[in-house]
Amino acid sequence: MRILIAEDDPALAEALQFSLRQAGYAVDWINNGVIADHALVSGVFDLLILDLGLPKIDGFEVLRRLRKRNLQLSVLILSGREDPREKVQGLDLGADDYLAKPFSLDELLARVRALLRRGSGASRLQIVQGKLQFDTVTRTLMLDGVPLSLPQPELGVLEVLLHRAGRVVSKEQLIEHLYNFDHDVSHNAIEVYVHRLRKKIESGGVTIRTAYGQGYVLDKE
Ligand code: CA
Repeated sequence: MRILIAEDDPALAEALQFSLRQAGYAVDWINNGVIADHALVSGVFDLLILDLGLPKIDGFEVLRRLRKRNLQLSVLILSGREDPREKVQGLDLGADDYLAKPFSLDELLARVRALLRRGSGASRLQIVQGKLQFDTVTRTLMLDGVPLSLPQPELGVLEVLLHRAGRVVSKEQLIEHLYNFDHDVSHNAIEVYVHRLRKKIESGGVTIRTAYGQGYVLDKE
């Protein structure tokens, strides 16, 4: 799952980036509204954490442009402003949630998890496919009732496939969801992760099918 932070306070942005990466998300940080707006055109993000008081163009305008393009990503507004009318305005412009500064990082992480669950089409804490059970809160995996520990990149690939089970996910989408701007991950690396995953989950009653020329689909056998 890939998150964009648009925030001009470097101390806050760095703390957010650190916590979100610890929690296993791919995170990019941008410190002004114009660049945030450009980055969002790419459509690769699952969630935007948006400060309202941004340089160049403010958070409201970023949100307005985003919703005009009809992009389906969740937006969590961060605001230092006390005025309740701003909260209403933000939500009316299409934000999904709102958090007033100062806030605890634990609360932010809980809201991020909730928004990403909703964004994946179901408010599920557990995703079950065959004998695989994935807990979206703790990001832990069980195979036939037994905990299965996977390296982060493999878990990341499986996570995206589980969230979109039955639908084709391209290699580009996997790369985009797993890595930040500054990583250069090849299609070959994704193939290697998928190959390893297939072996590890083959007893789970699910398969990762290759959709030739398109990507991968996670299906029940
Ligand atoms: Ca600000």
